[in-house]
This record gives sequence, C-alpha cells and structure tokens, in this order.
Amino acid sequence: MIVIIKSGTSREKIEELKSEIEMDGCRVSEVEDEGKCTLGLIRNSAKANLPRIEANSCVEKVSKVQQPYKLANRLFHPCDTVIAVNNETIGGNKLAVMAGPCSVESEEQIVEIAKLVKASGAGFLRGGAFKPRTSPYSFQGLKTHGLELLKIARQETGLPIVTEIMSADMIGEFVQNVDVIQVGARNMQNFELLKELGKTKTPILLKRGFSATIEELIMSAEYIMAGGNENVILCERGIRTFETYTRNTLDLSAIPAIKRLSHLPVIVDPSHASGLWRMVSPLSKAAVAVGADGLMIEVHNDPENAQCDGQQSIRPERFKKLMEDLRPFAGCEKKVI
Ligand code: PEP
Ligand code: MN
Repeated sequence: MIVIIKSGTSREKIEELKSEIEMDGCRVSEVEDEGKCTLGLIRNSAKANLPRIEANSCVEKVSKVQQPYKLANRLFHPCDTVIAVNNETIGGNKLAVMAGPCSVESEEQIVEIAKLVKASGAGFLRGGAFKPRTSPYSFQGLKTHGLELLKIARQETGLPIVTEIMSADMIGEFVQNVDVIQVGARNMQNFELLKELGKTKTPILLKRGFSATIEELIMSAEYIMAGGNENVILCERGIRTFETYTRNTLDLSAIPAIKRLSHLPVIVDPSHASGLWRMVSPLSKAAVAVGADGLMIEVHNDPENAQCDGQQSIRPERFKKLMEDLRPFAGCEKKVI
C-alpha cells in the first residue's frame, strides 16, 4: 500500500501519520520525489487502518500495490534511481559502461586493458578475481591477489572497480576494496548472501539468473534493499531458452519491462548473453536503444589466450569503435556516453 501525502503538508503532520501507521504494526518507508512525499507500507500492510488513513486531511490518495516488491517498486519511488560511484553515476543520463576482462590474469593484463577502455570512454573497470566456473578444473581466478591487481588498475586509471562476490564470508574484504560488488547469475537467489549485502552501503550489481523471471530478479533486489542497502543495479545477461546458437538469449524486453516496474537502474551484458564476440556490438546498440542505463562488456587484449571467455571478449580497438557507434543510439534515448 502507498500513501501519497498532499503537497505542503508539514513535517510534524507527516511524522504524526507515520507513527500512527507504525503503531498498527506496519513498517513505513518514506520517499521524497520532486517535492512529493510518499509513504510506502512495507511490512504487515494488511494491519493498517485504511479508513483512518484515508480520512487523514494530509492524505491525497491511498493505492494498493499488487506486486510483492515494495522498495524496488516504481509506485513507491516514481523517479529513476541514480547511484553515484566515485565520480561516475549509474542510472542518470550518462550511459554507465563497465568494461574489462572476464578474469583478472596479471598486473600487466589488467592495467593495460584498464588504460585502453578508459581511453575509449568506459566509466568502470570490470574483472573477475573470484570466478564461478562450471567445471572445478577450470581457472578459478586469482582471488585476493586479483583484488589487489584491480586496485592497482584503479589507482593507475581512476576507474571504479566492479567484481564478483561468491559468498557472504567475503563481504568484509569486498566492502574495503571494491566500488561495485557484483552478484553473479548463479547467486541471484542466494538469499543469505543478499541479506548480508543488504547490511552494507556498497552498490550491488545484481545479475539475472539463467532461469529467473523478471519478478524474481526484482524480488532479489528487494532482499538487498529490505536490509537497508538501496543501491542496487539490475543486469540483464541473457536467459536460458531452447536456442543453442548463442550461449544464452538476450531478453531485450526485460529492459522496458523493468523500467516500468522498478526505479532501479538496469544495465545489459551482451557478452555473457550471446557468448560470441561478433554479437557484442549489435546487441549493445539494441540494449541502448531499448533504454538500458549501461552496459557490461568483456574486453581482452589477447582473447585467443584468455583464461576465461575469450570467445565472447572483444579487443580494445573494437571496443573503441563500439563506443563511438553507440553515441547516436544513446542520443535517441536522451543519454550521453
Ligand atoms: C561475469 O560477469 O563474469 C559472470 C560470470 O557473469 P554471469 O554471472 O552473468 O554468468
Ligand atoms: Mn565471463
């Protein structure tokens, strides 16, 4: 349930109404959007005394919310959420481009790629230090050493770093060292991890699970937000379908759907969605054209010899060209790159 407060209502009256509602056993979340105050009833909204709320002179309107998510719901928060990370933003009118290798492999590799993607206009450096691999015999990442190398690359370029967390026991290390914590597709419904991440303040990039519906993705964001961390970015990275030509199927319709349902920023990862480097450019353009707030792109300086996902990694020169080609698509969506 959401309660829209009349413009010009005093703070005292709003606080009075909030405590009245809380006395009924509900949890109230207040949102101020373009001068308009909205109260969202998050827990136990069935216990609220609806006739009394509606009769309150400072209430403009009370609406029932059908969806199970509240904090992530656009009805609770009509304006787009913009998340600030160092000097960059995610969700504003600047396209947030996160680029880098699938895995951090060495200092030379990550620093060189970071410099090249920065020169082409990327705002963030991505790179896995802890890798969730299908086979236990595949490269598992450089782990803590990989985080140290990412920090060196950040120091050299100023790019904020985005890297994947695998379990809750790593949270302390990640909060100290990382600018955006990535939750991978395989962990999208690791609810214990999500709850613990909810206790931090670090922005969380939440990737859609292979078989997760849009509602399930938003509900996972709700887990993080319910714990107090509202800095969540959603990522469409392809879902599993009957098609085998591509690694996954990019669900482009998820972007306008999520934009309607939620105020959270949404980015697209065309690299994992397709699994094919040739598809990264066209899918990136399509993602921007349907309103994505950003992209996550795998870029490698030596894809043939990459430890992981070389087949879907583009070379830095191609990335540079893509950034140029994206400009008119971003412009159509009133975004800059
Ligand atoms: C990744 O971004 O490195 C990754 C493993 O992605 P996903 O969780 O989407 O498979
Ligand atoms: Mn990868």
